[in-house]
Amino acid sequence: MQNTDKDYRSQRALKDRRKRRMRAKKRKRKRQIISLSLLALIIIFIVTRIVSCANKNKDISHSPSLMWYYANATHKDRPIQIFYGPDELSNQILEPMRKLKDEYIVEGSNHLRKVDKYAYDTETISRFIQEDSNDLNKKVVFLTFDDGPNTKITPQILDTLKRENARATFFLVGKSINKNHEEVMREMLKNGNAIATHSYSHNYSILYPGRNANATNILEEVNKSNERLKEIFGNSFHSGVFRYPGGKMSWNNIEMSNNLLAENNIHWIDWNTLTGDAQPKSDRPTTTAGQVEYVNKSLNKNKSTNIAVVLSHDAINKQLTADSLSSVIKYFRDNGYEFGILK
Ligand SMILES: [Zn+2]
Repeated sequence: MQNTDKDYRSQRALKDRRKRRMRAKKRKRKRQIISLSLLALIIIFIVTRIVSCANKNKDISHSPSLMWYYANATHKDRPIQIFYGPDELSNQILEPMRKLKDEYIVEGSNHLRKVDKYAYDTETISRFIQEDSNDLNKKVVFLTFDDGPNTKITPQILDTLKRENARATFFLVGKSINKNHEEVMREMLKNGNAIATHSYSHNYSILYPGRNANATNILEEVNKSNERLKEIFGNSFHSGVFRYPGGKMSWNNIEMSNNLLAENNIHWIDWNTLTGDAQPKSDRPTTTAGQVEYVNKSLNKNKSTNIAVVLSHDAINKQLTADSLSSVIKYFRDNGYEFGILK
């Protein structure tokens, strides 16, 4: 009887020990699973961080690691170095990077870095042409095109400008800044032109009810146009250049609007030279020679002709303007003008 009791107790103890061992094993496995999952999560987190950083650093000039990569990639004959002095980064490496940087928008502006040297301050140029006494001691022409963009006339004008190595400022109507014209507008900026705004609606009764400028509506339309442009070009883009539809000269009570725009870093500009492409029919040139003559005549009405701000239109019905552009460019080139853009 005693023996059986003993047997029974030892069997039970054995069973208990086994159970405990099993439980310990289970706990261990649980811990292993938890720590492996944590490790996996950490790895996923690190990998996604690296990928997102790489995407953010597409401007390789701002990425030291990529700069190092390019330095080594182009010096395969030398042992790999971790640090390069600035003078060791030969022009061979820096040149493509500079070129890439040139294709970026000047922060908070309406043009690319590669044409920044041709960009003139709108407020200054506008004052010069109003006073008809410019201080620039060189000849600069600002070709300007209003009422675009579209896919008929605008591309023709862009092609001519590119071919002639000239540049212009395009005053876009906000309601036409849409998906259909995105490609044209990208081309515009890429080719070294500047982008300006020309209201959103181009509707005189909203902008100037009773011929009096409505400052709030005007600013609202400029902002709306800029927002649309930002959607296309990103947040670096902002155009502080504006032209009143119909011209500032045509409307009453415009001072309040000028001031409100200026407070928002927006400056308006009219023109001092015309191709005549939107003149009343009786005065409108019907040939290329006629447009060039109109440019010559209107420019020389100014006392000072160092700065020419030329009004033309790239609206859908302005085929003659597109056809005449190379002759207008030739006129200014023959007379010693540089092609500027407005910022
Ligand atoms: Zn217009």
